Amino acid sequence: MYKYVQVQEKAPQNAGETGIRRYILSLDNHVSIQEALMAFCKEKQIFAGKVGGLGAVNSATFRFLDPSTLKYVDKTFEEQMEITNLTGNISKKDGIPYLHLHLTCSRRDYTCIGGHLLDARINGACELFVEDYCLTSAGRYQDPDTGLNLYKF
Ligand code: FE
Repeated sequence: MYKYVQVQEKAPQNAGETGIRRYILSLDNHVSIQEALMAFCKEKQIFAGKVGGLGAVNSATFRFLDPSTLKYVDKTFEEQMEITNLTGNISKKDGIPYLHLHLTCSRRDYTCIGGHLLDARINGACELFVEDYCLTSAGRYQDPDTGLNLYKF
């Protein structure tokens, strides 16, 4: 589902700091970004971190939360697109890694679409950088006012 290399492991330097581990990932062609990244986070037990990357997909599903109704609107685009930016964070919810990902991708005509990413299927390649902040206290809770899963430190 993925190949990876760890590029850095840094121990805490001062009291109150956490360590950090950095990885480069190459996800396999045709896999789900959400599934592959989740599998990696579970393998490495990453519960707080940062994700960035690029690549190409042929399907992407976004979710829009209407703040006035707190209703979700999901939309899937089935076409070949370049990932111009994948950015996100990793936290912990219900005892397992929780991914919050946003994707911007460009279409054949070079216009871009993007938003909160539910999932996307790779068609070509997907190269990610993952930072593990070696912290287990970055939890989430469902906030009733916004409808969002907000950080709970
Ligand atoms: Fe979001």
